[in-house]
Amino acid sequence: MGAAVQPDVIVVGGGVMGCASALRLQQAGLRTLVLERSVPGAEASSAAAGMLAATVEADHPALRPHAPTALGLGRRSRALHVDLAEELLAEHGVDVGRRDCGALRVAFDDDDDAALDACQQTLATHAPDELAERLTGAAARSLEPALSSDVRSALHVPGEGQLEPPVFLRALALAADRAGATFRSGALVSEVVVEGGRCRGVRLGGERLDAAHVVVAAGSWTSLVPGLGLRAAQVHPVRGQVLLTESRPPLFRHLVFGAHGYVCTRPDGRVLCGSTEERVGFRREVTLGGLRSIVDLATRLAPRLESAPLRGQWSRYRPGTADGLPLVGRAGPEGLWLASGHFRNGILLSAVTAELLTGLLTGDVPADLAPLAVPLDPRRFA
Ligand SMILES: Cc1cc2nc3c(=O)[nH]c(=O)nc-3n(C[C@H](O)[C@H](O)[C@H](O)COP(=O)(O)OP(=O)(O)OC[C@H]3O[C@@H](n4cnc5c(N)ncnc54)[C@H](O)[C@@H]3O)c2cc1C
Repeated sequence: MGAAVQPDVIVVGGGVMGCASALRLQQAGLRTLVLERSVPGAEASSAAAGMLAATVEADHPALRPHAPTALGLGRRSRALHVDLAEELLAEHGVDVGRRDCGALRVAFDDDDDAALDACQQTLATHAPDELAERLTGAAARSLEPALSSDVRSALHVPGEGQLEPPVFLRALALAADRAGATFRSGALVSEVVVEGGRCRGVRLGGERLDAAHVVVAAGSWTSLVPGLGLRAAQVHPVRGQVLLTESRPPLFRHLVFGAHGYVCTRPDGRVLCGSTEERVGFRREVTLGGLRSIVDLATRLAPRLESAPLRGQWSRYRPGTADGLPLVGRAGPEGLWLASGHFRNGILLSAVTAELLTGLLTGDVPADLAPLAVPLDPRRFA
């Protein structure tokens, strides 16, 4: 950086939250410095399946108690992704693979059928303009012929989408850099500096960097950042394992959810199958048990995958939170902000999180976003 001008905002962490926020903050006129201990996109954000599944994911048990908030934020963000992808293509020439593929959530038995009924009812109550249609098994198979003949019904949500996370992360970092944000890789923040009741900056070992605002977007490591005052359980790692296979012609056109997992097919025939949810700390392993459970669910959804080649496997940590909701907003002392804890939906929620954070730091949160932001206030854990 040389004799760099002091930034207005220091962002701790260069995952999807850090990069998307840096882009929007810098575009709003705030000089932004991103400090990433590894390289941008090194962790969960590049490992994700990239599903933009605002309605299906809002029915996950962790989010179900917060359905209005989860649906409101997820659907807003899913819409923002359309413009963001167009911006990244038009201004930077990068196609992040965003498309409206739709989703099918399928049922194999009475319990699954009841869960689909409940999900449809929640949508009718909290997102009545979201198209969501119940299909018989035969109708679902006419949309997706590779679906198992054991599927007896499905909920079809055409508005869901997907994108390619590693490309998205590179594009966000590139766009933020071109907008004027500064990135420092290999920069491990060792402390957030709070003096006189307000945040002054951060320490990187012996080096101190000052800024009026510090945004901690350190994913699963957020609670471990010294000076923040979060307890370990408030943001914690939840390991997810993913298996990559391929199928020609491509297996499905839709995202397919069911059997406690999902299958996400790319247009070129790659198929991501996932995932596990494990509280095992920071153990970055792919396990035989994890793979077996994914193979079981994937072949249950699509028996054709029995003969599909294994092309890869990986695991990373989703930042889970104590109450299931992300932490976005003021963290306590003036000038200290959080953008973390997005659990299974960080790719989806990155666009709305960047919008909200920028609104908070500039004092200009859109009126229709403000009510949705209230439950995310990190001070609820104080
Ligand atoms: C297997 C799997 C599948 C997923 N699928 C989806 C999906 O389909 N759709 C979806 O929306 N979401 C999905 N997710 C969730 C999504 O990936 C996460 O919610 C999101 O990536 C979290 O982004 P983040 O920026 O908060 O964290 P991360 O991407 O983990 O980034 C945090 C960054 O902070 C850095 N850091 C940490 N501590 C410090 C420090 N002290 N100093 C400097 N840097 C630091 C880390 O190196 C890291 O790069 C999935 C996650 C997993 C694991």
